[in-house]
Amino acid sequence: MRKILIVGNWKMHLNASQASLLLHRLQERIPGRRDIEIVLAPSMLSLQPLSVQVDRRKFRLASQNAYWRDEGPFTGEVSFTMIRDLVSYAIVGHSERRHVFNEDLETIKNKMAAAVRNEIMPILCVGETKQDRDDGETKQVLHDQLMSALSNLTAGEVQDSVIAYEPVWAISDGSNYTEHIVAKPHQVAEAVNYIRRYVTDVFGEKAGKQVRVLYGGSTVPEIVSGFLDVEGVDGFLVGGASLNYQVFTDIIEAAWRWQRKGGKE
Ligand code: PEP
Repeated sequence: MRKILIVGNWKMHLNASQASLLLHRLQERIPGRRDIEIVLAPSMLSLQPLSVQVDRRKFRLASQNAYWRDEGPFTGEVSFTMIRDLVSYAIVGHSERRHVFNEDLETIKNKMAAAVRNEIMPILCVGETKQDRDDGETKQVLHDQLMSALSNLTAGEVQDSVIAYEPVWAISDGSNYTEHIVAKPHQVAEAVNYIRRYVTDVFGEKAGKQVRVLYGGSTVPEIVSGFLDVEGVDGFLVGGASLNYQVFTDIIEAAWRWQRKGGKE
């Protein structure tokens, strides 16, 4: 049985005191529950103070990124080794890292290995651009991203990882997530099925069954139960909506309601 996972990616928003206030509000509203895991990914700046403030019965922390070398002359970078005591998860290969910061497949592969080496669970983001989809290349893109990113990992490491299907064309710019285009459930079903099949074919039945696969792209509370109904979807990577404590709480409550009604029967 895979546990539902909801990750809030705060991107490059909120200074340390704003981040602390948002965490405080979320902690007030969200009771600790065992059946849904909630992860917050603040900026690197806020990881240290939030790691002291966070109620670990309710939330775990993730980094949005880190550098794959453990230490050395890499000005401006922070390594997975440096944050390993602060976070449980790390987002790796987010489309903004791939497309704005030109992270290539090799870099993402190295980051996956570095996260695992430092006992941090990677949340690998994969997904096609609009152009890729229009060209009929979605599966090829997913294949190439998965093949490269997972190539240094064992079946056990893949099984404990998280993969987020995030079609690049569905990711909002953070400010307009309520108006932004969301993928259709049948598109998500097809991609998630492909991802799980890839993991099963390469890493075996157990890894394919246990790896958690999320959807990401303009998630709002209204889509939660319909997307959780999609075979193989285990939760959400939420960007813009995770910055609003009320909306993020509504997303989590929608997942609880779905779970209470019986979840995936
Ligand atoms: C994301 O940051 O991964 C994301 C999916 O953002 P948004 O929900 O704003 O589209």
